Amino acid sequence: MLNIEAMDFAVTKDLLAKDLLARLTGIVGESGVMADADPASRYRRDWSGDGSGLPLAVVRPRSSGEVARVAALCSERGVKLVPQGGHTGLVSGALPSAAGDELVLSLERLNRIVSIDEDNFSMVVEAGCVLETVRAAAAERGFVFPLALGSQGSCQIGGAVATNAGGLNVLRYGMMRDLVLGLEMVLPDGRVWDGQKALRKDNTGYDLKQLVLGSEGTLGIVTAVTLKLFPAPTQVETAFLALDSADAVVKLYGQARRDLCDLLSAFELLTDGGVVHSGLPNPLGSPAPCYVLLEISASGLVDARALLETFLESALERGLVRDGAMAATSAHAASFWQIREMIIERQRREGRHLRTDISVPISAIARFIAQAESAIEALSPDAIVLAYGHIGDGNLHFNVVPPAGLSEAGKIDLLHRCEERIFAVLDGLGGSISAEHGIGRLKRHAFLDRISPVHRDLLGAIKQVFDPAGILNPGRILEHRAP
Ligand SMILES: Cc1cc2nc3c(=O)[nH]c(=O)nc-3n(C[C@H](O)[C@H](O)[C@H](O)COP(=O)(O)OP(=O)(O)OC[C@H]3O[C@@H](n4cnc5c(N)ncnc54)[C@H](O)[C@@H]3O)c2cc1C
Repeated sequence: MLNIEAMDFAVTKDLLAKDLLARLTGIVGESGVMADADPASRYRRDWSGDGSGLPLAVVRPRSSGEVARVAALCSERGVKLVPQGGHTGLVSGALPSAAGDELVLSLERLNRIVSIDEDNFSMVVEAGCVLETVRAAAAERGFVFPLALGSQGSCQIGGAVATNAGGLNVLRYGMMRDLVLGLEMVLPDGRVWDGQKALRKDNTGYDLKQLVLGSEGTLGIVTAVTLKLFPAPTQVETAFLALDSADAVVKLYGQARRDLCDLLSAFELLTDGGVVHSGLPNPLGSPAPCYVLLEISASGLVDARALLETFLESALERGLVRDGAMAATSAHAASFWQIREMIIERQRREGRHLRTDISVPISAIARFIAQAESAIEALSPDAIVLAYGHIGDGNLHFNVVPPAGLSEAGKIDLLHRCEERIFAVLDGLGGSISAEHGIGRLKRHAFLDRISPVHRDLLGAIKQVFDPAGILNPGRILEHRAP
């Protein structure tokens, strides 16, 4: 039996009557309910480490049936619920509130690969499967599940659905929205919506799964997903290229789209500041203002290496590229990719910094970088700007590391002002304040300030239909409204 008296949260004792905990335990078993008084607990934090929350308790069901019974119980009692995946979301959506009034529902025990249908190029997985496990299971059967993120060793499929995750190969395969054929979802009142179809074409009215994709756990709890698979590439070629400017990067991208027979699978911009910041050696020896990490991949009867060699020779001749190296082996290619990963890791180690995941039309990327850099320079000449991202998606991480000498409060204030300036530049270019990470709690005000009353009304009405009691992820994306 759980020892209720041992819980050190006064709020918990008030809110969570003994019989509620006992009923949760009755649904998921003793090992499935934790009071979670440990301040270092992973259920209280996320990857960023920027904040922490206080769960009412943590419940870890093993099946969608158990999820449904937990949700029904919470609905009956008016208990708020926060679905948690792999804690890699970057907008505090999965963090429970600090008030100790939200029950964390972890999907981590729904982690089975259910089936693979080779003829249909699809697989069914439970929502708590870690992305890397899903990719490995697909690879074992000669397929690729192409969602590739720096967080793939921890993030879950349900989290990727909830945040409509993107990543490195979006320009070839699309975002999670393009990779899901069907899903199963538990509504906040405990009803189950079985949308587990495995169809590529289905034009029967409103597409409910698309509403759930990117809804950040505010409409329902995703419990299982049917994913699209693709033939695993048998040839992958990678190049690290030096260019004179962001403008040149965009021109090269256009040429690559035209010349590389639709085999382009990644086209990442790095700036010299980012490469230096990674702490790893520059593969080209001498510095350049910008770099591109370009990857093509293919299966079947095509010579990808010869194609890329011809393309690069012509790009050098035409002056589109200043210098470049093609990876000779997969380990060599991995060393290129490591530079990009280390930029992210080093940023995290530096402590508090501004992360953005903006998007603009591809044609406006160079203008965005120039205007946003000047805006940050004017605010704080000593701040370090790290810009990198997915050029083919018009999506950049335009991040700012504050001067080391500033106090914590000074850093928070500066980064807030930097974000406002960056978002103002975006407004002028018709951009988006989030292309990947979503709104969560961190960007709610910035998001709601930018949408029309009609847009707000529609979003509020949709939330009302799915979650009239307002118990699921309250205050994420939208203001919390008590029923
Ligand atoms: C190093 C790093 C690199 C990253 N790179 C990228 C990138 O390239 N592209 C990109 O798009 N994102 C990226 N991210 C962000 C992040 O990995 C994704 O948002 C990821 O999809 C979140 O999955 P998760 O399982 O960790 O979700 P969590 O962080 O646990 O939750 C995120 C949100 O989803 C909700 N949620 C979780 N599971 C469910 C469920 N089963 N049903 C309903 N709601 C649920 C939560 O309530 C929360 O609101 C990166 C993050 C890190 C740390």
